[in-house]
Amino acid sequence: MRKLLLALLIVVFSGVLAAPGWLRWGEHADEGFTRYVFELPLGTPYQVERNGAVLRVRLGLDVAKAEALKPQDPAVERIELVPQNGGGSEVRFYLQPGASAKKYFVLEGPDGKFRLVQDFLHPKKGAAAPPPKPKPPTPVVVLDPGHGGPDPGTVGYVVEKEITLDVALRVKKLLESHGVKVVLTRDGDYDLAPKDVQDFYQRKLIDLAKRAKMTEGKRNLFVSIHVNSAEKPARGIEVYYLGKTLDSRVLKLAITENGGGALGVKLTKEASTTAEKALADLIAQGNLQFSERLANVILADLVKDTGSTSRGVHSAPFYVLRNARIPAVLVEVGFANHPVEGRQLARADYRQKIAQGIAGAILQVLGNGSGKTARR
Ligand SMILES: [Zn+2]
Repeated sequence: MRKLLLALLIVVFSGVLAAPGWLRWGEHADEGFTRYVFELPLGTPYQVERNGAVLRVRLGLDVAKAEALKPQDPAVERIELVPQNGGGSEVRFYLQPGASAKKYFVLEGPDGKFRLVQDFLHPKKGAAAPPPKPKPPTPVVVLDPGHGGPDPGTVGYVVEKEITLDVALRVKKLLESHGVKVVLTRDGDYDLAPKDVQDFYQRKLIDLAKRAKMTEGKRNLFVSIHVNSAEKPARGIEVYYLGKTLDSRVLKLAITENGGGALGVKLTKEASTTAEKALADLIAQGNLQFSERLANVILADLVKDTGSTSRGVHSAPFYVLRNARIPAVLVEVGFANHPVEGRQLARADYRQKIAQGIAGAILQVLGNGSGKTARR
């Protein structure tokens, strides 16, 4: 009586329910398996079914009620005894991660019983937990706020170098909140030429070459940000990728953005030659296609977010895009000298919309969500 009481207490306090008399098990730790033995009256119908992490044994044997057992076994996490509607019962073995079931076998005893033996292999050491997934590398985006320092860029209702920096810093913040690393070609009002270089065009050449060089290394995307200007009143957004152009207006824009004057003409020719070579090179060609796609996504998102006009995606010989082996585009976010758009560009809330359009498009192209999340 005392023995029974003690056994009951153990059962209650360990939280483990007693197995029925016809099921017992023993762990063979050294051999790496646990053996479960059903001891059944001769002639008891049985059926064993393995299905992934669950093994079911159907028995022509009734259990009083549904029950769950915790066998404290490295191979089996839980056993459920489930009475079946039409009579009989099902015993479900839920395997531990990494454990597996061997094929059962049957032993006939001399005592009017037979034994259904089911072995479960323990998970291999260190194989229990799935290996941690390698973290995908953090994408790196280069943002290039056009101009800076002695070169203000175009001046209208706004000063280009101020707008490009402000927009770039806003895009950076949005991208970083989505786990994208951002490299800026400049983060203040300066250019990249050494202090002792006096000549404006010499400075410009060094500056543009250094910016173009910043597309190299482990970078995924390059976006140069600029503000447009026009002799005839014009407004809207245009996005460029590297290529040649037959459009005299676009060519003129490229010469201006490439430093203007004789330098602008020279660098535009160089970029044009590079673009021509790229068209004969399969890898460079593929990259230009990615750039064109990036340009289209940026344009679509910018027009949607700002309500501005689309002036299309074009190719042009921009020197800053020349070296890129990654998708690289130049965005003209609007016209500084347009009476409506120029004043819009002067407003922080409008520049935030521009930044959201650019960031959303970049996230979309990087496959980092739909890009919708950047819009708040
Ligand atoms: Zn510019």
